[in-house]
Amino acid sequence: MKPWEANIRRVAPYVPGEQPKGEKLIKLNTNENPYPPSPGVKQALAQMDCDWFRKYPDPAATVLIKALSKTYGVEEDRIFVGVGSDDVIAVAFMTFFNSRKPILFPDVSYSFYKVWADLFRIPYETPALDDNFCIRKEDYYRENGGIIFPNPNAPTGLLMPLSEVEDIIAHNQESVVILDEAYIDFGGESGIKLTEKYDNLLVVQTFSKSRSMAGMRIGCAYGHPDLIRALNDVKYSYNSYTMNIPSLVLGAKALEDDKYFKETLDKIIYTREQAKIRLGELGFSFPDSMANFIFASHKERRAEEIYKALRDNNIYVRYFKQPRLDNHLRISIGTDEEMEALYIFLKEFL
Ligand code: PMP
Repeated sequence: MKPWEANIRRVAPYVPGEQPKGEKLIKLNTNENPYPPSPGVKQALAQMDCDWFRKYPDPAATVLIKALSKTYGVEEDRIFVGVGSDDVIAVAFMTFFNSRKPILFPDVSYSFYKVWADLFRIPYETPALDDNFCIRKEDYYRENGGIIFPNPNAPTGLLMPLSEVEDIIAHNQESVVILDEAYIDFGGESGIKLTEKYDNLLVVQTFSKSRSMAGMRIGCAYGHPDLIRALNDVKYSYNSYTMNIPSLVLGAKALEDDKYFKETLDKIIYTREQAKIRLGELGFSFPDSMANFIFASHKERRAEEIYKALRDNNIYVRYFKQPRLDNHLRISIGTDEEMEALYIFLKEFL
């Protein structure tokens, strides 16, 4: 061992989904949107002037914050933006989760929460989902240093009614509750309006899923101006969290085309509901997802076996080799053609 190795910070990093490249593959493994960003985004990209890049971006992200304010009817001082919701949440962990009390998040949930808690040395407890994979709100009625959970949850896709989300917030006014709404646009009711009523609530959203812009890294959060101010203070202490110019401009542009946004959402929701029927016919069972993925297990075949067979045939779905998840596949909703290719393969294979 080299003498300096004892000083190295070792963490168990997040394991991202595979990003295979190729013409013919069908990628249903990282919950990306199968449709392109809005035509207005494409046009704005074509009109972008390279000379803009000589200068640093606006750290206050004014153009994007103004556009979000207009779209969601939220005042500008109640909005925070960052480099994808991953960074927004990471900044929020650093800002709000500083007590010695453990933060709470579900045992089956977005796996980055545990990574950040470890990285920032935040103690945590992970209440177990019930037998139907639901979050039990009562598990969050205890002393804590903060709470975070996704709604709909990932990777289950299950949506908690907003009234139950509110119960959790109302029971925890001593700590900050982060509601991760990465998948809310696929059929859920957002908690943004609750941020008017509860000053301890931060609602986080992303442009990666419903707005087809995962590659641009755009995330945002809504909350009381005091929370937003605290987030900005931490953000400005780490310059790397400042969004770049194309993301600011194209993100603002994406918000203009509401018709396209709703049309793509409708298509994905329709395909998801079809997928529930088709996967059911093929012998799969799954929680009733309200997200853009389905968390499915097969009545006879092991998930790992199906995952490998699909992969060998250039169809990528997500398989998590961990307790409680390891007989499930998380299948992102693709186009109708991609889903049809999946069903055809599965029908042959199973
Ligand atoms: N929250 C949840 C629940 C997610 O599944 C993801 C995507 N993997 C994110 C946050 C982060 O998304 P992004 O950083 O692309 O905005």
